[in-house]
Amino acid sequence: MTVVGLDDTDSRERGMCTTYAAARIAERLSQVAADDASEDVTDTVRRILLVRLNPAVEYKTRGNAALAIHTDCDLDRAFEVARAELESLAETADDRTNPGLVVADHPAEPAAIPEDVGQFARRAIRDHLEIDDAAALVDRHDYRSWHAGDGRGRIGALAAIGSWRELEEWTSELIAYRERGTWGTTRDVDVESVFAAADRGYPEAWDTVDRGEGETVCVPHTPGPILYGIRGDDPETVRRVATEIESEPVASRRLFVTNQGTDVHLRDGTIADVRDGRAYRLAGHVASDPETRRGGHVFFPLETEPPVSDDDTDGDGAGGVESDGTGTVGTDDAPTLECAAFEPTKRFRDHVRALRAGDRITACGEVSDGTLKLEKFAVRELVRTERVTPTCSDCGRTMESAGRNQGYRCRECNTDAPGKTEIPLERDLEEGWYEVPPCARRHIAKPLVRGGFDAQTHAER
Ligand code: ATP
Repeated sequence: MTVVGLDDTDSRERGMCTTYAAARIAERLSQVAADDASEDVTDTVRRILLVRLNPAVEYKTRGNAALAIHTDCDLDRAFEVARAELESLAETADDRTNPGLVVADHPAEPAAIPEDVGQFARRAIRDHLEIDDAAALVDRHDYRSWHAGDGRGRIGALAAIGSWRELEEWTSELIAYRERGTWGTTRDVDVESVFAAADRGYPEAWDTVDRGEGETVCVPHTPGPILYGIRGDDPETVRRVATEIESEPVASRRLFVTNQGTDVHLRDGTIADVRDGRAYRLAGHVASDPETRRGGHVFFPLETEPPVSDDDTDGDGAGGVESDGTGTVGTDDAPTLECAAFEPTKRFRDHVRALRAGDRITACGEVSDGTLKLEKFAVRELVRTERVTPTCSDCGRTMESAGRNQGYRCRECNTDAPGKTEIPLERDLEEGWYEVPPCARRHIAKPLVRGGFDAQTHAER
């Protein structure tokens, strides 16, 4: 099997997109095979992988996508077809477009892709790589390659090849493309038909629409060839949903095998060890009540869980983390990380605002500039009580401090209390996973409705 990896063919200004370049190359490969054959051939293209790489990479245009075409076409032929296509695109592209093409020949099974190429794919999804890393690996395996500009696109191209070995979970996207003359004009898609198709396809098809915002998430806003993209668990579902959408004429449709909706960018980590530009799953407790700042962005500090120790007198395993009614908990020097739910995450912010100091959570998202941008979080344990200044049993007024370590006293009635009292805390949050709504979802992030999470889920749709 010949594997054609490509990346970085698009530009913000020209509104190209690498999925389209891959779809065109695939079409050309099928044509070439049909022209060569004396009788009918079955399609020479087996599948196209659409692989989302590290969303934190600064060079990306939008969704950091890389593509790999799996074809039965011979290597030299496939290389020439792909190079011709990319060369013609690169000629007119802007300087920030650095296309890369890598072509390999391997037996069809994923394990036939070399281990180091697989590992390269995982690093491209979770880490930052250098152009030289890609060039060295291309040489080591004698892959054919071509590039323009600085050739950064070879990183994605190689990662797309390696992903077939490295990734276990795949989902589907059916992309419908617009007719050429219409690119850049307003898309004509019947919104009602999209919502109806989304309902029928749910939950196997996800992120088609955002019911809460009334938005057709599957229809992009940027100029370019895509009319809509339907994402889901399997090819049949996304094909069916696509056929139910009424719209302007569709020039062509392509099915992609993708790592979208899988959370494969997340790595397990600790608050002390996080680094910018990577995405994590982190356990900790909320160190102080969330705060809404200018622009509607919500922030709170997440603190490393103290070890369960002797002060866990209530045996809840939560160490000494309990709300004392001041809105803060915790120790002075435990590693802390700011977490943020930005305004575009819309109603997700209500769940974040409902957190309280002392809640134990698992937070997921990318760390940039020392802040974790929340994609989802799981409430592991909610603070259920709060320690407040006691009230007088006779007059009902709040007592006052009787001095350091001397409890509280009511001035009027002379009643006293040895210390703060615990009262139940009303909570608007339950245990389990919460997520950003479809309109704010990153391509690679896994929607809760897909299942496989370690606690109950509160899915957005
Ligand atoms: P679109 O989604 O519209 O196709 P894009 O967001 O995929 O655009 P590209 O134009 O492909 O963006 O640019 C991303 C560039 O960054 C590519 O050259 C790719 O090879 C490179 N790249 C991807 N992942 C990494 C990584 N982990 N480390 C370093 N470079 C990377």
